[in-house]
Amino acid sequence: MRIVDVSPFLLKGDETYGSHTGAAEATDQGDWLLLVRVLTDDGVEGWSDVETLGPVAARVISGAGMGAMGFRTLRDELIGKDPLDVERLWDELYLATAYYGRRGVAMHCISAVDNCLWSIRAQVAGVDLATALGGRHRDRIPAYASTLFRQTPEENAAAAGRYVELGFGGVKFGWGGFGIDSVLDRENLAAIRDVLGPQRAMMTDPGWYIVDGDRPRARTRQETRQMLDVLAGFDPYWVEDFIHPETPAEYARFKDEFPQLRFAAGEQLATTWDFERLIAEGRIDVIQPDLSRCGGLTIARQITASSIAGGQEIVTHSWLSDLLHAYSLHYLATLIEAPWVEFNVAQSALSRGVVKSRMSLDADGMVAVPTGPGLGVEVDGVFVRRAAARATEAGS
Ligand SMILES: [Mg+2]
Repeated sequence: MRIVDVSPFLLKGDETYGSHTGAAEATDQGDWLLLVRVLTDDGVEGWSDVETLGPVAARVISGAGMGAMGFRTLRDELIGKDPLDVERLWDELYLATAYYGRRGVAMHCISAVDNCLWSIRAQVAGVDLATALGGRHRDRIPAYASTLFRQTPEENAAAAGRYVELGFGGVKFGWGGFGIDSVLDRENLAAIRDVLGPQRAMMTDPGWYIVDGDRPRARTRQETRQMLDVLAGFDPYWVEDFIHPETPAEYARFKDEFPQLRFAAGEQLATTWDFERLIAEGRIDVIQPDLSRCGGLTIARQITASSIAGGQEIVTHSWLSDLLHAYSLHYLATLIEAPWVEFNVAQSALSRGVVKSRMSLDADGMVAVPTGPGLGVEVDGVFVRRAAARATEAGS
């Protein structure tokens, strides 16, 4: 079996990221979305979404490459290769892009291709993806609703109430200006905790930078300390990704100061080397690889071993379409412990539209791991073609 095509599908929407005052829901990246498809000569295809700068990533996959190793596109490297040679192809793609890649957009694209290849491997074996990854330990996983902080306590309470009504046992609010004004932070957290009650998990993601006036910057240690002090009063299940990703030892510093808090991080990282450093230096509690950015399933499987050795929970970051939800569910289904899957309740029209039938939450707050050969989620070709045509009209 050979790879005959590797294609980016750049999709254009008309929404933008953010929470909206007075609106029922926030929105993820609604302006652009990139899907990747790997096709074999037997007609088997794998699809993945990617959270990255889509218009640039499309060129990394199939733009004009250069001849030398280290400067190639993924397509140039992959055509004619055996798609079942998944781990070896990961190593080859790393080398093919080494001079301009190694992290960032090129690694996001490698992640998507790697996911596609795992999907193909599972389809060819005639098994679901979790089984192909090494063993399906469970068929359902508890989901937490993942969204952005709204501006006021009333809006946050209303949003939290909606997720409780839907059946979620945990809710994460993130970004949205949190961690700047401690008085407002306290009011917003109190409103959310009041609605969730003591029994439901409240995750918080303050983000690792703030916009000060009109300029982004990382928080000072004193600002971070003050923010954690406020959070500690509301029993968060975890506090996520509030440290500059290049300084993981800062997590350990704050862990010493706030031993009652659990820290989660990893969505910005890629490769096993990054995660090993996060675990060793940061001493965090929850590892959050994003399968569309960390290097894909091949890397996530290696992180599993590190987490087992270190005793950390793994809860993938998955704030994109149901394709990424499905990849995450299959991967989490292979772990010994899978306390949560992140469920993006802020999907834009683009994220919602790319699959034929959307995933839903069971009444008890669980989401089913897809069944059937491969990923078990089907891409809506008509929607994808329409959104791709809008991208072409937009000049990309
Ligand atoms: Mg986050």
